[in-house]
Amino acid sequence: MKAILIHQHGGLDQIQFEEIDRRQIEPGYILVKMKAAALNHLDLLVLEGFPALNLEMPHILGADGAGVVEALGEGVERFSVGDRVMLNAAMSCEECEFCRQGEHSMCIRLRLVGEHSHGTFAEYFLVPAVNIEKIPSSVSFEEAAAFSLVFQTAWRMLKTRVGLKAGDDVFIHGIGGGVCSAALQIVKLLGGRAFVSSSSDNKLEKARAMGADFCYSCEQTNVVKEVYRDTAKRGVDVVVDNVGESTWIQSLQMVRRGGKIVTCGATSGPNPKTEIRIIFWKQIDILGSTMSNRSEYRELIGLLGEGRLKPVIDRTFPLAEGRQALEHLQGQKQFGKGLLVT
Ligand SMILES: [Zn+2]
Repeated sequence: MKAILIHQHGGLDQIQFEEIDRRQIEPGYILVKMKAAALNHLDLLVLEGFPALNLEMPHILGADGAGVVEALGEGVERFSVGDRVMLNAAMSCEECEFCRQGEHSMCIRLRLVGEHSHGTFAEYFLVPAVNIEKIPSSVSFEEAAAFSLVFQTAWRMLKTRVGLKAGDDVFIHGIGGGVCSAALQIVKLLGGRAFVSSSSDNKLEKARAMGADFCYSCEQTNVVKEVYRDTAKRGVDVVVDNVGESTWIQSLQMVRRGGKIVTCGATSGPNPKTEIRIIFWKQIDILGSTMSNRSEYRELIGLLGEGRLKPVIDRTFPLAEGRQALEHLQGQKQFGKGLLVT
């Protein structure tokens, strides 16, 4: 089969579109014929490599995907050949104390499809059957592929970790990426007010069309000052900060006393300058979050099927153009998800 893969870590020039043997199907696994696969910032991290990542090469990238069941491994009964399915990339051990509590994203042996095993940027992908769910009939392959990782992440951050309530004010830095546009939808679904920032007027316009209540151009204004003005000097209840180094101090400044800052990533770098005095004086809760557990994922698919959540698709590329698609992602020009399709 053809796949987007790497033979070694490095820059975009390491990405190849090549023939690779399909792996033998194992008991408990499902082979899916890929129809659509979404790109994530994670793909760029895996491409570059990091010290804890020790991959067998060549490695196929891609952590989101949807397609049609091609073959079932021994013991898989929940699906039939031909079913339309979507992937939850979080592979958990099912045995540790957190898995036994149903907290799969806290698994001590958590692995991700595309990060620790072969990913979805290929004509076929092979994954454990427990990581697969059926696509609601009203949802396209593209929407299903664009949905999982970002909505799982945003839902767990805002619903589970923050416990967002109707009327809460939520600030989202750097609207445009997949997690942020998912977070914006979830804030509106749960009845909050959304405050968003971007350096791109075009992205702010799109966010406004999706229901953002306050939009700030972070290059032209002092965002913290404006947030204070728009919240009658109170600050926001919650800040979603996936940006990291370039926004962390602002997050501490703009959150209200007793407010919450939640993070699931650090696209501008993981080691921000911080200010402990603001954290204790304002009694701020700082929350980490990653992926979701399986019951959160199923709840989300229900909301997807009802049309109450809808992934934003930026553009699609043929599978063969994986390198160009990742280059587009790296340029941070997208609003919503980029996809590879077959
Ligand atoms: Zn586990």
